[in-house]
Amino acid sequence: MSQPFAIAIHGGAGTIIRQQMSESLKRDILNTLESAVRAGYQVLTQDGDALDAVVEAVKILEDSPLFNAGKGSVLTHQEMVEMDASVMHGKMMDAGAVAGVRHIKNPVQLARDVMKHSDHVLLIGEGAEAFAFTQGHQYTEQDYFFTERRYEQLLAMKSRNQFALSESKFPDDKKFGTVGAVALDKQGNLASATSTGGITNKKFGRVGDSPIIGAGTVAENGNVAVSTTGMGEYFIRKMVASDVAARMRYLKEDVHTACETIIQGELKTLGGEGGLIAIDAQGDIHFAMNSSGMYRACVDRQGELIVKIYSDE
Ligand code: ASP
Repeated sequence: MSQPFAIAIHGGAGTIIRQQMSESLKRDILNTLESAVRAGYQVLTQDGDALDAVVEAVKILEDSPLFNAGKGSVLTHQEMVEMDASVMHGKMMDAGAVAGVRHIKNPVQLARDVMKHSDHVLLIGEGAEAFAFTQGHQYTEQDYFFTERRYEQLLAMKSRNQFALSESKFPDDKKFGTVGAVALDKQGNLASATSTGGITNKKFGRVGDSPIIGAGTVAENGNVAVSTTGMGEYFIRKMVASDVAARMRYLKEDVHTACETIIQGELKTLGGEGGLIAIDAQGDIHFAMNSSGMYRACVDRQGELIVKIYSDE
């Protein structure tokens, strides 16, 4: 049998309220998820690398105003965007990440540049942007990222002195909205990518799990690739992505058991709402969430496209 290949993506987990989701918003979300997963899958069918497949998929989600990454990033207390992203390639355990960047259109591509063209794993803020410009990234004005929807969310959070997303007029306001992708390519490489604007009304240079290798992103050839979404403070403390990989490596758990054990177990007990996507070395995909929904899609190793929103689907 030829080497299996497959890809899965997410557009964030959290409270997604069915009754408040309009048909047109739902259609836009499903269409964008489908375009993104198909773009990544195409890289794989053309014998491309798993890393390029996940970056391609995440880039499409970053370019959409519908997800909390790139263009659709949530706003900080100071009414600007500060984005985080990371990538990992499972062959040599290479990784790259950026945190707190404000003027980069596609942070996931910058994370890949950090991995490939710097001697480091994680670059932050102005330094990360200075590096970006040496790699051909253009300076992107904050105006590009501004959306009315995010501004209204910020004002609502500020008036309540909250910093996480909470209920209001949007059907997914308690959704964390980060995007991510995991893939297995025909060469047997596993890769993963995660990108986010973080949480609404964040202050003081707050950084979540998304750019932290082992918390938000992990890839190990022969084992698993993982990308997470949820309240980053919990995912960092539980090192969720690494924990999935460790359970599979040391306890020989399958990908489904390892993911469910963590997401429905200690993470949930601690109060860590969210989810993750994972793919193992055979191309088996698992979506896990302890929230009412997670925007997600995959093209599995049989070539079947699946796109879903709610946890009971
Ligand atoms: N994990 C992200 C963070 O805490 C948020 C998200 O998943 O939307 O920054």
